[in-house]
Amino acid sequence: MEKTDIKSLNLKELEELLVSHGEKKFRAKQIYAWLHVKHVSHWEDMTDISKKLREQLQENCELTALQKVEMQESKLDGTRKYLFALADGNMVESVLMKYKHGNSVCISSQVGCRMGCRFCASTLDGLVRGLKPSEMLDQIYRIQEDIGERVSNVVVMGTGEPMDNYDNLLKFIYLLTDENGLNISQRNLTVSTCGIVPNMRRLAEEKLQITLALSLHASSQKKRLELMPVANKYQIEEVIEACKYYFEQTGRRITFEYSLVGGVNDTDEDAAQLAGLIKGLNCHVNLIPVNPIKERDYVQSNPQVISNFKNKLEKYGINVTIRREMGRDIDGACGQLRKRFLSHAERQGLS
Ligand code: SAH
Repeated sequence: MEKTDIKSLNLKELEELLVSHGEKKFRAKQIYAWLHVKHVSHWEDMTDISKKLREQLQENCELTALQKVEMQESKLDGTRKYLFALADGNMVESVLMKYKHGNSVCISSQVGCRMGCRFCASTLDGLVRGLKPSEMLDQIYRIQEDIGERVSNVVVMGTGEPMDNYDNLLKFIYLLTDENGLNISQRNLTVSTCGIVPNMRRLAEEKLQITLALSLHASSQKKRLELMPVANKYQIEEVIEACKYYFEQTGRRITFEYSLVGGVNDTDEDAAQLAGLIKGLNCHVNLIPVNPIKERDYVQSNPQVISNFKNKLEKYGINVTIRREMGRDIDGACGQLRKRFLSHAERQGLS
């Protein structure tokens, strides 16, 4: 029988588990705090829980705790990139960014990705599996323990497509924002998607206060299709409709991510078309100079083109910012640290 993943249970489920072991309900709160407030990695560390109960739990449950394999710290801005090993030997990346307003962690939602975006390193080897709620949470817990400071913001923008791992994502959101756990404010959580329309709509109906970021990257269906195979399944207009729906249901302003790729999506015409596409929607556009990966020959738009694109959008009345590049001196684009590690392991005959 498969063991229960105890860190993926909410308080009510944990209570049910304990009652089924003949324990009193209140024990659940104690154990929940060990897992989600004190972030213990070993059963033995739950010092106010009897040895007998710990052993019982250990027999029936697994305790997810990621192992830090590597950490790189930027000398420029203190950004830290972590490589963590999961219990089955898979690896995921997470990033810590230090801002004046607090510590922000970018987590992975899957091992690999099957969305196939042309400029992205995370998708090159396809999808291995989705992460469990506990594996998403523990990226944040491990980083918080590592730095000894509170993490206040979380972005689900690392490797993987969160809406392709929807049930686990939703569970993760509820655990992360639970007042008995890390208690991160919903407003401090952003989920980024390439545009899986049915699940964007489902998320809207949860009526949460989290920010939805949509990876748009193009202003027409034709161009989007060149960069993002997911556009075969969901047309750009449907995706924009789903964003409108998200705003209607939640009142939360949408963030559009737009990676500027030199000569591909950065012309004045692109800017005009983009403004037309999102006109009237309460939104914000985040321009990201594309981070070139060696497997593809896409290049960044030059700085002049980027600021021109921004000015054009502003003239059309769109809120727009250019994303500040963080940790430029460490393996930059999503998925690159994991990829470098895996290919090194292959060369060494380790995998
Ligand atoms: N799958 C989700 C979240 C992960 S990617 C999504 O698509 O939104 C996080 C963001 O980084 C997305 O906007 C993605 O398109 C972008 N991205 C990926 N690789 C990039 C690269 N090499 N340069 C710039 N942006 C990139």
